[in-house]
Amino acid sequence: TSYQSVGLIIGVTGIVGNSLAEILPLPDTPAGPWKVYGVARRPRPAWNTDHPINYIQCDVANTEDTLAKLSLLTDITHIFYVAWTGSEDCEVNETMFHNVLKAVIPNSPNLRHICIQTGIKHYTGPLDPDSGVLPHDSPFTEDLPRLNAPNFYHNLEDILLEEAAKKKGLTWSVHRPALVFGFSPYSMMNIIGALAVYAVICKHENKPLIYHGAPDNSKDSWNVYADAADADLIAEHQIWAAVDPNAKNQVFNCSNGDIFKWKQMWKILAEHFEVELVGYEDGQKRKSLQEMMKDKGPVWDEIVRKHKLLPTKLEDVAQCWFADIVCQSQNLVNGVNKSKEHGFLGFRDSKKSFVYWIEKMRASKIIP
Ligand code: NAD
Repeated sequence: TSYQSVGLIIGVTGIVGNSLAEILPLPDTPAGPWKVYGVARRPRPAWNTDHPINYIQCDVANTEDTLAKLSLLTDITHIFYVAWTGSEDCEVNETMFHNVLKAVIPNSPNLRHICIQTGIKHYTGPLDPDSGVLPHDSPFTEDLPRLNAPNFYHNLEDILLEEAAKKKGLTWSVHRPALVFGFSPYSMMNIIGALAVYAVICKHENKPLIYHGAPDNSKDSWNVYADAADADLIAEHQIWAAVDPNAKNQVFNCSNGDIFKWKQMWKILAEHFEVELVGYEDGQKRKSLQEMMKDKGPVWDEIVRKHKLLPTKLEDVAQCWFADIVCQSQNLVNGVNKSKEHGFLGFRDSKKSFVYWIEKMRASKIIP
């Protein structure tokens, strides 16, 4: 094949990286046919092997390893940076991105565009609900000023603009998705994984599915509007920005384009797994999901054995700490008018997206 574009996905086993690995090689993807390289920290997992890409195991936090492996690639035209170190440490996240650019830019003369994925933490500040940072009012728009708090998203943006300015013809885009609905048993923040695995455990133990909510009720998510961004949609959004001249050198929010309430999603979850739902009750004080699940590792191992699932560990497939944060989030609606104005009209129905990814976990033998 003679390729028109060559993509490098950093974080190819992540929640959006895995969608990019599936979509980029498709015959009808814009600016294709695409040759694709995909980088991740660990060996290639079984659920990622269907994608026709060149998998490179590389620790991009390690400068030597990154130089040794990525400087050999000389044909890259587009970078999709969809990784983070799993903590909000500015220095490590900055080093990772810098290492990639230092290895690729001097060696791939045809490099044309770099996409980076950040997110709505740009508008809300760090994950820690007690950080004291006052978030922006939502719906969020791309022109809101940076919050006055350390955020590795700022570091990534600064490096991106600095490096792009040095090379003639190199363009960039920054993508700020809402909460991601997607598939990846390696993702460090996968809300679908956490909720589906919790529901599977409830079913297995013949117990009701309990909506845990916020510990003190104050910022409970049950009955407020929320939004999400489908991982395939984010991949389409990034590919659009990578190839469409209207989208160059811009920051774009990304979300499904609709809103929902978590009480509706919990109802779908309970019905899907045929478990009884105990929803929000006035004045409720409940354990966090992290607390409820802390001894369930052996139960999960038993479920994996019983249903002959792909071997996974509970802490990998269910990030309960993250589900706890999501359940105590309010007013996080991400505006997408700017993307539409620039020509991206993609959308998803969030409820269908929610079910789609649960079904994908099932088809991939992550859950029974
Ligand atoms: P993820 O946790 O799903 O996947 C991370 C990927 O990065 C994996 O493929 C992992 O192998 C790779 N990686 C991590 N460290 C590496 C290293 N040292 N060397 C090589 N590869 C490494 O990622 P994500 O959730 O898509 O996060 C990407 C960005 O999106 C982050 O800035 C995150 O804050 C943001 N975001 C995530 C969500 C969400 O719900 N997951 C929502 C909005 C924004």
